[in-house]
Amino acid sequence: MVEKKIAYTKKEALDFLANHDAYIVAGGSDMMVIKKNVAGYAPLFDKDVLYVSHIKELANIYEDKDGVHIGATATMHEIEHHKLCPSLLRKAISEVASTNIRHFCTLAGNIANASPAGDTIVIDALLDAKVKLESVDGVRLVDAKDFVLGVRKIDRHPNELITELIFPKIEYTGELWFKVGSRRADSISKVSFAGYYEVKKNVVTKFACCFGAVSIRPARSKELEAKVVGLSLEELKAKQPEIAGDFAQIIAPIDDQRSNKEYRQTVAMNIFNKFIDDIVGGAK
Ligand SMILES: Cc1cc2nc3c(=O)[nH]c(=O)nc-3n(C[C@H](O)[C@H](O)[C@H](O)COP(=O)(O)OP(=O)(O)OC[C@H]3O[C@@H](n4cnc5c(N)ncnc54)[C@H](O)[C@@H]3O)c2cc1C
Repeated sequence: MVEKKIAYTKKEALDFLANHDAYIVAGGSDMMVIKKNVAGYAPLFDKDVLYVSHIKELANIYEDKDGVHIGATATMHEIEHHKLCPSLLRKAISEVASTNIRHFCTLAGNIANASPAGDTIVIDALLDAKVKLESVDGVRLVDAKDFVLGVRKIDRHPNELITELIFPKIEYTGELWFKVGSRRADSISKVSFAGYYEVKKNVVTKFACCFGAVSIRPARSKELEAKVVGLSLEELKAKQPEIAGDFAQIIAPIDDQRSNKEYRQTVAMNIFNKFIDDIVGGAK
């Protein structure tokens, strides 16, 4: 017999997970699709279920010396409209699903779902966010970029609950979020891209970028980013083809029902080149 538990406190949730091999449901926007039943019937769960969306103590968004903490049950709508949250995250969220879904789906659910097309996982990786996991055994912090291990595979122990994501404060002068889907709203990404930069006295002093939906995990290379930092804008323009060629190597798009690899490769690199053009042009 499948047991279903609605948790109202973090302690209730962690105690349940300590004694049950359970599915966790937050907003349910992925889980209810994955476990869907015939029309008119409740979803079919083949093991125990823990519902966490009523845990108010995990819905907080606050800032401290480590950065901005976003609780696991804060909805995407709340994050989108919260001034403390990073602007790139808010931009990406404004294009996730539809307004009604954003009123109940969560950031924690997006990363735990580990879809290559997930939008916010690109931002988590770009902004060096950390995933906080708690269990009756204690607390673990995992870099968001390492938390997603592969398609629908994450670094979570069965008794752990994601309790928040933490975004360190990063200052910069320019940013880009670009999502390509089949239509302008309520569309899953075929390709996505996020980046930020800082230019001071004609020199690039910060540069970071991350591609989404073009490999099994968000694609980022700190090694390649470091080669851009220190270039003058003239050098960046002159080396743009070479730099784009290097970044093209870190993505590995595939064919699927939404697109094909040639389209994804071309579009991803067009967006990357637009990002470089913005840096060079914007600072003139
Ligand atoms: C019509 C539609 C359109 C969509 N469009 C987009 C889109 O444009 N971009 C996009 O990125 N996604 C999209 N999605 C996917 C989905 O909305 C997101 O992945 C969402 O963020 C999931 O959050 P949730 O709270 O609903 O998660 P749930 O469905 O409740 O859970 C998803 C996964 O996360 C796990 N989980 C949830 N909370 C926790 C926690 N606290 N600790 C540990 N594990 C947890 C669950 O066990 C499950 O594996 C769409 C979905 C639908 C149905």
